[in-house]
Amino acid sequence: MKDFLLTLLECPRCHAALEVHPTSSDGAEILEGKLVCLRCKNVFPITRGVPRFLPPDLSAAQRATAEAFGYEWTQYSQLTDADREEFLDWIKPLTPDAFAGRVVLDGGCGKGRHIYLAAQFHAREVVGVDLSDAVESAFQNTRHLPNVHVLQADIFNLPFANPFDVAYSIGVIHHLPDPKQGFLGLCKHVRPGGRVSVWVYGKEGNRWIENFVDPIRIHITSRLPKFATRALSLVLAVPLYLALKLVYGPAPRIPGLAGLKDWLPYAEYLCAISGYSFAENFWNVFDHLVAPTAFYHSRDEVENWFAAAGLNEVVISQRNQNSWRGTGVVSEQAPRALSANALSVTADS
Ligand SMILES: [Zn+2]
Repeated sequence: MKDFLLTLLECPRCHAALEVHPTSSDGAEILEGKLVCLRCKNVFPITRGVPRFLPPDLSAAQRATAEAFGYEWTQYSQLTDADREEFLDWIKPLTPDAFAGRVVLDGGCGKGRHIYLAAQFHAREVVGVDLSDAVESAFQNTRHLPNVHVLQADIFNLPFANPFDVAYSIGVIHHLPDPKQGFLGLCKHVRPGGRVSVWVYGKEGNRWIENFVDPIRIHITSRLPKFATRALSLVLAVPLYLALKLVYGPAPRIPGLAGLKDWLPYAEYLCAISGYSFAENFWNVFDHLVAPTAFYHSRDEVENWFAAAGLNEVVISQRNQNSWRGTGVVSEQAPRALSANALSVTADS
């Protein structure tokens, strides 16, 4: 944990300021210690470089979901060259300019691939939050970046005193117990005039997953020991990988075969991921089998979230014909700050 993070934090229980008590540091990084609330005296540990704000009242489903993704992103912790292109596609029509000079929040940072990229896009400060042990990987992947911060917390109880300029959440909202409230909660942490961007699974284009894969995921694969779900994912990933490399990848590129894409099932999505490495492909399968909680959202639902948050300049678009990405700007009429003593993080320092 770097000192600057403290200027963004408050006690998630009573909203008072926190005081840091380090016991072990490595240069500017506090590795072990605690944060203590100046008012209610609650203690939040800092372990392995990451402040921990885990609420005591997580549901069994929340714990199981965090455990699933914690396993995935600590086992598959490497960042890849494909991350940049994929991130830019998930946040379209935003471009790297949306991050330059901004204070940015990642709601569900996983192994840290997007907070790493936000820093590459010249964000002023980037804060990645995740409920799961994926924060261990996110910290290791970004600890060398002086303006990147990682903490473990629940998106419904974020410990931030100050609103952010930009908040995004990629592939996370649909795994929350109440996706709409999660979205609205994220928006509350963005200043008036600031920007929100999310990507979620779509209901449109995923009926076969809802009808056939979901019952297996909910009743079987999310309940299996992780090694068993992993083994099953390997069995499924091999034929999928062969289909991607031998059929879906070449189909749109070979003259005379372009029309084949119209006949292939789930072509838009599978052609889009045909460049995945075997590891990406395997973990993508695992990702779809392991989560106890996953929702598929219609365009109407996503539009409703943006309307409920009162966002302006909303752009919602379909990605690969099976998911929705949306962005909007927080209304200038939104509450000015989250707490009485909050200062805007956009003020020049
Ligand atoms: Zn407190």
